[in-house]
Amino acid sequence: MRKISIFGATGSVGTSTLDLIQRESDAWQVIALTAHSDVAGLAAAARQSNARLAVIGDETRYEALKEALSGSGIEAAAGEAALVDAAQAGADWSMAAIVGCAGLRPTMAALKAGGTVALANKESLVSAGALMMDAVAASGATLLPVDSEHNAIFQCLAGSRIEDVARIILTASGGPFRTRSWEEMQAITPAQAVAHPNWSMGAKISVDSATMMNKGLELIEAAHLFPVGLDRIEILVHAQSVIHSMVEFRDRSTLAQLGSPDMRIPIAHALAWPERMATPCQPLDLARIGRLDFEVPDDVRFPALRLARQAAQAGGVAPAILNAANEVAVAAFLDGAIGFLDIAMIVEDVLNRYSAPVPRQIDDVLEADAQARKMAGHVMERLTA
Ligand code: NAD
Ligand code: MG
Repeated sequence: MRKISIFGATGSVGTSTLDLIQRESDAWQVIALTAHSDVAGLAAAARQSNARLAVIGDETRYEALKEALSGSGIEAAAGEAALVDAAQAGADWSMAAIVGCAGLRPTMAALKAGGTVALANKESLVSAGALMMDAVAASGATLLPVDSEHNAIFQCLAGSRIEDVARIILTASGGPFRTRSWEEMQAITPAQAVAHPNWSMGAKISVDSATMMNKGLELIEAAHLFPVGLDRIEILVHAQSVIHSMVEFRDRSTLAQLGSPDMRIPIAHALAWPERMATPCQPLDLARIGRLDFEVPDDVRFPALRLARQAAQAGGVAPAILNAANEVAVAAFLDGAIGFLDIAMIVEDVLNRYSAPVPRQIDDVLEADAQARKMAGHVMERLTA
């Protein structure tokens, strides 16, 4: 039996992971499950999977969690330090599926503990990429990318040398507003932005897909996971989301990974790696799909693409600043406080105010993150005054 922990167990990726392991429950022993504030969801998942430990991030919900778990024998814990402890509770496979930079400390702790870490929490790698990759090298942990594009690239690279890669082609659906004009995009509502045409995901990443900041974050994520140089990573819009990314080698042979847009496919890949497991996912019906379309992304209507590349080129804490400003702006958009096009404007404003020193430790990253959040708040106050 492999010992597994899931960080962000109540979210979209977390529940997909639970769905897969419950189909093969003999193979897995659940050590820890975590959530931010959804006590009922966490307690139900912990009971159903017979977890040893359940951790709620929001400390004020500790008593509620204890009560929800009473009589089950499952240990309850709460708070950020408990999330970090849970990452060192003896799992040999962990899913990092907290959303946002809030996942950074637990993800780092899991990496430092060694074992295998399946990474969905892209914001942690965007914010602290070099430090995280150093931690992987130091501990000997195995980092498996779960983001569908990065999982696709990982699969395309199997058996090849990174030196032989000519180009990585990161595919993007283009989101729900791929064909909208700038004028039309001004009036977009949160409900429209979270309705992704191909994927069912959490609210934050859905908005990121709509602004294409998601692809910007993925560019930075790819640059850390697959060190071929930023100028060798290209973004290509492919609206059908059938090809999840491609790798072109120096002999000009190109490999692509294809599949239905169902996160359980890359999650299953990470669960079974280096083997394979069966999933309940739809097989790909290419005859029905009929054709695959591609287009160049438009970074005028989607400035987030340009901003992310700018932050990646600046390096240091610039990607952490980009990410933090984006998290604040997306939350404000979801709250109805700002417009859709304001998101990238706020990110650009915050990003251009800072130089980007190289962080020596995680605290330096979190300090930059906190400053950028504060600045994004000021920028927003001016905008809405
Ligand atoms: P979600 O919003 O559905 O779930 C987020 C999870 O994180 C929940 O369990 C929530 O309780 C927990 N959480 C939120 N804030 C927290 C905090 N401050 N402290 C501790 N826990 C907290 O998000 P999701 O769509 O599952 O995405 C999770 C991560 O995976 C994100 O980084 C996202 O970019 C990435 N990802 C998701 C998908 C997808 O299909 N959903 C695909 C690729 C990558
Ligand atoms: Mg992705």
